[in-house]
Amino acid sequence: MSVNAPTLLWFRLDLRLDDNPAMQAAIARGKPIIPVFIYDEDKDWPLGGATRWWLHHALADLQEQLSCHGLKLVLQSGDSAEVISDLVEKHEIGAVFWNRCYEPRTIARDSAIKQQLKSQTIEVESFNTSLLFEPWEIKNKTGNPFRVFTPFWKHCLAKSFPKTINCDLGATKVPRAWPDSEILDDWKLLPRISWDAEFYKFWKPTRKAGLNRLRQFVKDAVHDYGNGRDRPDWDGTSCLSPYLHFGQIGPREIYEALLGKVDLTKGGPRQYLSEIGWREFSYHILYHFPSVPTEPLRPEFEHFPWEPDDQLLKAWQKGQTGYPLVDAGMRQLYAIGWMHNRVRMNAGSILVKHLLQPWQDGARWFWDTLVDADLASNTQGWQWTAGCGADGAPYFRVFNPVLQGQRFDTEGDYVRRWVPELAKLPSQYIHQPWEAPDSVLAAADVKLCKTYPLPVVEHQQGRRRALDAYEKLKFFHKDKK
Ligand SMILES: Cc1cc2nc3c(=O)[nH]c(=O)nc-3n(C[C@H](O)[C@H](O)[C@H](O)COP(=O)(O)OP(=O)(O)OC[C@H]3O[C@@H](n4cnc5c(N)ncnc54)[C@H](O)[C@@H]3O)c2cc1C
Repeated sequence: MSVNAPTLLWFRLDLRLDDNPAMQAAIARGKPIIPVFIYDEDKDWPLGGATRWWLHHALADLQEQLSCHGLKLVLQSGDSAEVISDLVEKHEIGAVFWNRCYEPRTIARDSAIKQQLKSQTIEVESFNTSLLFEPWEIKNKTGNPFRVFTPFWKHCLAKSFPKTINCDLGATKVPRAWPDSEILDDWKLLPRISWDAEFYKFWKPTRKAGLNRLRQFVKDAVHDYGNGRDRPDWDGTSCLSPYLHFGQIGPREIYEALLGKVDLTKGGPRQYLSEIGWREFSYHILYHFPSVPTEPLRPEFEHFPWEPDDQLLKAWQKGQTGYPLVDAGMRQLYAIGWMHNRVRMNAGSILVKHLLQPWQDGARWFWDTLVDADLASNTQGWQWTAGCGADGAPYFRVFNPVLQGQRFDTEGDYVRRWVPELAKLPSQYIHQPWEAPDSVLAAADVKLCKTYPLPVVEHQQGRRRALDAYEKLKFFHKDKK
């Protein structure tokens, strides 16, 4: 091996140069660096349309950042193990560094790659950059994984939080010859039909934009996050989830941005930090219970009497359930690839409770349409909603979408923004148009069943059906005992 054998720096869900321990290790090794991104589609969870869009722009941004240091981002597609083995051989690579991912299939693949490289006496190391704490570091008193959020987070808060990592990017070394690279546009990550016009208005998927958003959120909104986190009609949350998912921003950076500027022991800042904690918890669960993306953590829910129905699923996906808050959320999701958490909970609840559709179908739709689609958080969100996961909302607690709308979108501005056919309804009726007198509907140009549907299931009836289904599940288990 040549004394100048380059370091292969394998980018994955860590699309940033700062606070990047694999990058720091590559610089410290003192040899030329070859950054690579491998497009290796997961067969079970292929990227959804919205995350493909984000990935395209995040990679373009990373290419630009690397070019400031004379580096290129080598793009290759195919099986990661094969691509790495080929690069190692052709470019006499001396070391391979990457930051860890925690999806079950990725863990298995990466372990095999590590073994293979070690057997070839190639230096290989992986690092943590996307979590505050490794999932295996956090254990309860009996040495087992946590299944309830509050003690999990209490345990984390008692530990010292890791600091961000400074990378001396001025010290990077450039290889004499670059491997061939595929062309980003050829990957066709962007949609062929332009459903993404609104994405461009809402998002700037660059690291710089993410950092600006973080700064602005800490300055303007984190104090009132306790309210903002419930108000879809406000700009009250950080909207950092896609940046976090793709690693354009890391949780250590968020923690440091808050530290010293706000009091993290109370109010909005404390609540905000605990949401970062929910992200950690989701990864903790996924790591310790790797079957959760398709199977309920609580096995008794395997026998839940779902009633799969394509038409109901489609009505929900298109934002045509007749419940304005839910429809606004589903249309917001389709338009910009993101939905406020309060509405995600309501949209999820309608699907699994009022409509009795399997939570896995909702999770697949979110997977395809969210820019922040994340196996850990999406699974956790859906299992929480369906009451079948770790620390879930009990199944028998059924959201009333009308009351939720009246409470959290008080004037109906959120509904007006995303369900324009209801825009002229007065606030009093905006969350329940079917209660409006004919004259009010006529004045607002609303024709129920024509311009906007009646609820697919009336609330009390939907609630009853959900509770009956839950009772059947309980009987099933009693019978088995
Ligand atoms: C059914 C359902 C599906 C979900 N799917 C996803 C998903 O695929 N990807 C995803 O990142 N989040 C998911 N969430 C969690 C949450 O809705 C989003 O993280 C949040 O709405 C993102 O907006 P924000 O960045 O403004 O969040 P903020 O309120 O500003 O929170 C800051 C960060 O904390 C994390 N966070 C906040 N709430 C949660 C939570 N409940 N669980 C895990 N992490 C959280 C996110 O990384 C978020 O960016 C889901 C929730 C539900 C109910």
